[in-house]
Amino acid sequence: MSRVAYVNGRYVRHAEAGVSIDDRAFLFSDGIYEVIEIYQGALIDERGHLDRLARSARELRLAPPLGEAALRFVMRELVARNRVQFGHVYLQITRGAARREHTFPPAGTPTTLVAFARSHDPDAGEAKARKGVNAITVPDIRWKRPDIKTVSLLPNVLAKQQAKEAGAYEAWLVNADGFVTEGASSNAWIVDKTGALRTHPGDSSILSGITRARILEIARAKGIPVIERAFTVAETHEAAEAFISGATTLVMPIVRLDGRPIGQTSSECAAPGPVSLGLRACFHEFAVKSV
Ligand code: PLP
Repeated sequence: MSRVAYVNGRYVRHAEAGVSIDDRAFLFSDGIYEVIEIYQGALIDERGHLDRLARSARELRLAPPLGEAALRFVMRELVARNRVQFGHVYLQITRGAARREHTFPPAGTPTTLVAFARSHDPDAGEAKARKGVNAITVPDIRWKRPDIKTVSLLPNVLAKQQAKEAGAYEAWLVNADGFVTEGASSNAWIVDKTGALRTHPGDSSILSGITRARILEIARAKGIPVIERAFTVAETHEAAEAFISGATTLVMPIVRLDGRPIGQTSSECAAPGPVSLGLRACFHEFAVKSV
């Protein structure tokens, strides 16, 4: 079965889908996106993702080409046409195609909407979480509005590649004051020695994850103390556990940071901790209830 994508009002074969070379996202990264988890065919935390998409659009003064009901319909069509049980939907809106000028295109230029759905193997994600993954730290060199989910991801791409070349899964971005802001494609968390969860506040220096918000809610409901305060790399090395969150990784334990095991005394036994794995299980439970 060939994959089907959505491009500006049409469902097309994914391999043949395309947009103009004049598209503002191609020329200027002038666009926004969302990634929504599909769990047993259902879109998880759709409300939160659509609200964030609307906020990103407002911040960039972009007019989405479709209303929310139509967007919801398109995403469901993609899930159905591609028979996705587990995976994600990707949605991107750009300022459209126009003669290359930095200033906005003429009024009335239609914005571009592209969406596609992709399957993944849920067992592979679980196997990865049981082992945990490694992260490295890199300087956070992004612009001052990473809270907007734009397709302008070059610093994130470079950080992620650096992580890959270092044998790691994620790069944690560290600001000029030595605090971890977030991951290149995830939010960053530690569990301190008292058992409290720590994560950077949801201000303009991070992309405030929809998964992050759900984990905060789950943790509070379970009575886990939560502190939304930035932490340093040194505090991470002192922590009991560390993990990342995101719509594709969900809750993913970090077992080594810059090669040093987290929460372990022996470098032989870097392993995920109970809080991270417990929160991952709770996130799945929440997803099951959403189906
Ligand atoms: N931070 C960054 C930089 C991201 O790219 C992502 C996800 O792509 C996240 C955080 C997590 O956001 P969400 O939980 O909404 O997927």
